[in-house]
Amino acid sequence: MKLDPQTALVHAERKAPQYIETVQAPIYRASTIIFKNTSALFDRHWTDDYDYSYGTHGTPTTYTLADNIAQIEGGHYCLLAPSGLSAINLVNSCFLSQGDEVWVADNIYGPNMEHLQDLAKRYGVIVKVYNALDVDSFQPSDKCKLLWLEAAGSVSLEFPDLVQLVKKAQALNILTALDNTWGAGLAFSPFDFSSEHLKVDISVHALTKYPSGGGDILMGSVVSQDKALHHKLFQTHAIQGISVSGDDVAQVQRSLASMQIRYEQQAKSALTLLAWLKQQKQFAQVLHPADPDAAGHQFWQEVCQTQKSAGLVSVIFNDHYDLTDIRKFCDNLNLFKLGFSWGGPVSLAMLYDLKKMRALDYPHLKQGFLVRFCIGLEEPNDLIQDIENALNKMK
Ligand SMILES: *Cc1c(COP(=O)(O)O)cnc(C)c1O
Repeated sequence: MKLDPQTALVHAERKAPQYIETVQAPIYRASTIIFKNTSALFDRHWTDDYDYSYGTHGTPTTYTLADNIAQIEGGHYCLLAPSGLSAINLVNSCFLSQGDEVWVADNIYGPNMEHLQDLAKRYGVIVKVYNALDVDSFQPSDKCKLLWLEAAGSVSLEFPDLVQLVKKAQALNILTALDNTWGAGLAFSPFDFSSEHLKVDISVHALTKYPSGGGDILMGSVVSQDKALHHKLFQTHAIQGISVSGDDVAQVQRSLASMQIRYEQQAKSALTLLAWLKQQKQFAQVLHPADPDAAGHQFWQEVCQTQKSAGLVSVIFNDHYDLTDIRKFCDNLNLFKLGFSWGGPVSLAMLYDLKKMRALDYPHLKQGFLVRFCIGLEEPNDLIQDIENALNKMK
């Protein structure tokens, strides 16, 4: 058939020769995935591990990253979502229905709590808060379907009593979901931790942080080991139209090879800062789970047996510093940029008022404004000088 040039353009041959090999895999961008024939259309099933039906389900590009994330975390299955928060929401909307109870740690990633409180208001989900350091504060009723864990907790970085919390939930057949962004699958395996080889059911990871590593891509993942559980998540993922861009996936995939090196370098720099920060008189407390003085340090030792930690450290200023002082400190930082998120090349600082963020009482935390430092890839002594300079300008 003689084709019009316009038609010929649309149908131009676009297959690479078989022998082409590149360092990075080719990027598939797809909404439509073309079926070879009707048999290919009818023979496929959505529960197939690699279902090529439509772009929202997956492409070779997304399945490659998903497999890699599952492997890093020690799981078998992985679903990708357009942000870490979207991955959290996938878990919540998959497993929580009207009247179900969910328990969340008080120091959980804030927007997860906000999402759950929205579900409580609109759909009658019952949200209960526990103290991550105290397993007895987790008192599930027989309506409890889900326990949210985070290790270490957001902002104040307490490492939870993961072993006892998981054991208690599992004894009662309650699903356990861990926000594993801090550990990133590197500090410990969510599917094989402590000397008792415990595992959570679901590990959620904000790939926005260490896997992306650039401070420029948003993505999240939900990893599991159990096939039936994965299929339940997969179905919710499919019906909600949760999908990610092939280009974004390729960026994360490209960064993955250097993730462990970056993680360890940033962790090492954070420990250098921790030692220095502890000497400064302006701080009432310095928070980092590897610090022997930290609340939850023994739980960190129990779970992170290779002594690994992420590149985050928080400080609580002496309480005679008011908000104006803390703002002045933050505004005088130069290398540390003021911004949310972490895991990128540039160090970040963010200020928090813990009093407004916690529902329970925490005697282990001093009063005062908190600043969280996320350590990037700068030389740590330059970062120390930057903080010292901002402290000197404060008062
Ligand atoms: C950043 C973060 C998230 C959310 O990830 P986004 O991609 O920013 O939505 C979830 N949990 C933790 C612990 C995080 O640090």
